[in-house]
Amino acid sequence: MRIDVVSIFPEYLAALELSLIGKARAEGLLDLAVHDLRDFTTDRHRTVDDTPYGGGAGMVMKPEPWAQALEAVAGDEAAGGGARPVLIVPSPAGAVFTQAMAYELAEEKHLVFACGRYEGIDERVLEWARDRFDVRPVSLGDYVLNGGEVAVLAMVEAVGRLVPGVVGNPESLVEESHSDGLLEYPVYTKPSAWRERAVPDILLSGNHGKIARFRRDEQLRRTAARRPDLIEKLDPASLDKADRAT
Ligand code: SAM
Repeated sequence: MRIDVVSIFPEYLAALELSLIGKARAEGLLDLAVHDLRDFTTDRHRTVDDTPYGGGAGMVMKPEPWAQALEAVAGDEAAGGGARPVLIVPSPAGAVFTQAMAYELAEEKHLVFACGRYEGIDERVLEWARDRFDVRPVSLGDYVLNGGEVAVLAMVEAVGRLVPGVVGNPESLVEESHSDGLLEYPVYTKPSAWRERAVPDILLSGNHGKIARFRRDEQLRRTAARRPDLIEKLDPASLDKADRAT
């Protein structure tokens, strides 16, 4: 998968050189490049913002540097007849990012992330880009960040770990929160007794059937307690008799 990130703070994205994403880049599983928006300006001050039409507080990102940057990272491809690259525009006014969206994006060949700052990017950039990209304004959640970079770090990590080969053991992607609509069960490691707290006996029993049931019950209980909204969204057909008893 190819990923391009455009930002006025490319250093912010340095964390993508670390850990599993950094390793995936080194191994060629992810072809990830970070671009400085200011490299696509033409004035001496490398200006990327200006005052908003209609007045109001703050500054707005100018359209031309964005068009130049987006043409540079996906120009030929976006103009060609093939699959359009996905342009993700982080925004608190976007659709909320979910694990389902991460799975969907992990199937794409090319993702481009446009990190806004100030009051955001001139709206005409998104309109213009719709002819060339599959444009998706995406929010990390219902709160406001100073810029899109933190959102991009989260999204690239969530999507990148679903690309085959990035996570060593693919089983760990199956048994985790949000993969089946539920939160994950609690996990424990050695020692079996710690500060007068014991690991649940069933996990030491070696009885795989009972362990699976215990974990499923814990998933259902935890989800009902912490995220009742997820329980309401569950497909009743996905619940067995024992689930309903929990
Ligand atoms: N004026 C904008 C609004 O109210 O919708 C907020 C601008 S915010 C200060 C600057 C930039 O941070 C946005 O353009 C976006 O790139 C990013 N950002 C802020 N909150 C975000 C969120 N919840 N999810 C994704 N990106 C966010």
